[in-house]
Amino acid sequence: MIELGSYVGGKWVKGSGKAAELVNPATEEVLATTSTEGIDFGAALAHAREKGGAALRAMTFAQRGEMLRAMSRAIHGKRDELLAIAQANGGNTRGDAKFDVDGASGTLAAYADLGAELGDTNILVDGDAIQIGRGARLFGQHVYTTREGVAVHVNAFNFPAWGLAEKAATALLAGMPVISKPATSTAMVAHRMMEIFVEEKLLPEGALSFVCGSSGDLLDRLGGQDVIAFTGSSITAAKLRNGKSVLEHGAHINVEADSLNAAILGPDVEEGSDVMNLFVADVVREMTQKTGQKCTAIRRVYVPTAKVDAVLELLRERLAAVKVGDPTKDDVTMGPVATAQQIRDVREGVKRLESGARVVFGSTTEVTPIGVERGKGFFTTPVLLHAAKPAPGDAVHSHEVFGPVATVMPYDDAKTAAALVAAGGGGLVTSVYADDKEFIRAMVLALAPFHGRLTIGSSKIAGQSLPPGMALPQLLHGGPGRAGGGEELGGRRGMTLYMQRTALQGDRALIEAIAGSKK
Ligand code: NAP
Repeated sequence: MIELGSYVGGKWVKGSGKAAELVNPATEEVLATTSTEGIDFGAALAHAREKGGAALRAMTFAQRGEMLRAMSRAIHGKRDELLAIAQANGGNTRGDAKFDVDGASGTLAAYADLGAELGDTNILVDGDAIQIGRGARLFGQHVYTTREGVAVHVNAFNFPAWGLAEKAATALLAGMPVISKPATSTAMVAHRMMEIFVEEKLLPEGALSFVCGSSGDLLDRLGGQDVIAFTGSSITAAKLRNGKSVLEHGAHINVEADSLNAAILGPDVEEGSDVMNLFVADVVREMTQKTGQKCTAIRRVYVPTAKVDAVLELLRERLAAVKVGDPTKDDVTMGPVATAQQIRDVREGVKRLESGARVVFGSTTEVTPIGVERGKGFFTTPVLLHAAKPAPGDAVHSHEVFGPVATVMPYDDAKTAAALVAAGGGGLVTSVYADDKEFIRAMVLALAPFHGRLTIGSSKIAGQSLPPGMALPQLLHGGPGRAGGGEELGGRRGMTLYMQRTALQGDRALIEAIAGSKK
């Protein structure tokens, strides 16, 4: 049995008291335990602020970028080992594990490139200089400088590798020290990544700390220069937003929460066309990749009324080919969900959706997983539902089932489709599949206010389209309303959470020399 530790104050420490168990969700075997009881989080914060903050702020963007490049290479160098851990502790197929681990090294590499591009400075210039006086000398310029606190990162269970890396990449490039806390149940991959960073001495002391288990009183100790970046359920997000660090001390918080992402098939898309094939492939991938445990997975599928039967048939056919079982077996294409609680939530969630829809494929209880001892593991098949008369108040527009579950619904016109998507209360990503420019334009105008990202699948890019569920370092990740209102990634946009924007006003030449903004 492995006993996992936390890396705080520049060393590995183990908690006392009752430990949490980390299991293999395919076999229910306990793989590791962890506890943070007794860890002095006050000392951990002080160490990160004093040592890590000072060291990082003394580095330029280019130097921090080099550090991120080394972190990316180190993970890539241990890829097979990390993939095996993700398969054991996360229920990931090898493909799922690659999505997480390669996503981590890829995001670090993208931010390493951005560091090189930003160069030998540590001030970010925001927009152009603005003349504010009558004469040509008096100017204003907005700049960002690094906050002097600590960034505490709290991650969800579904992307232990990418979650650590994407948040750390943006914060470290911005110059803030990080304390990263993965979700306990699937923390083993993140724990091994942290070991690799420490073994290879890739970061200055105090720049990256790691909490494996409960965060104890850590979040209550934060102040106005500190940042909380949270990913997880909206219930936990509400608790964190109402914590005293945020309410009383002015700690900054970014929330990435639930999302009822949608896919909309345009009225112009014909059966057998490239766009229809892309749409069907995207829906099935987004339902089943990571066993549907992706914040960006497609949960709601809107189809012109006349095409519903054909789409249901195409989806059922593809879903029937999904092989559920032990994710280490080569022929298995979908593993279990991550925990016993998750499978209970998925079963309960499908029942809630059934109040306004009917299951047309699959079951959360009748499943015979390949290569698994009878009665073991947290398995479900993919489940497709059909809601023939969707209304904005239905559970499908308010309840996220965090598993391989989606609901197909009809619409008669663009306005109705947009209103139903918006009934989801704000999301991370929605995809529109069409070639009709007027339809796409109407959808973009109606849906952009409710989303952080929209993907458009049209015939010209059908062969090279990236899946809607793939968060990219160059583009924003986050969404309004139910999705938490946060913004991560998006190149330099993601760094600004960790920096203070200040308007400098004075002599143009002086300001340009300080900000490095002279063109
Ligand atoms: P969760 O139960 O809210 O947990 C998320 C994280 O919060 C975990 O690290 C958890 O730690 C921690 N946590 C829980 N209670 C806490 C508290 N009182 N104080 C401090 N930390 C606390 O969510 P989850 O089950 O891991 O993740 C699933 C949810 O995340 C889904 O709803 C999904 O939509 C959402 N999600 C969103 C995104 C996005 O980018 N928008 C990405 C992935 C997932 P422990 O594990 O130690 O309890």
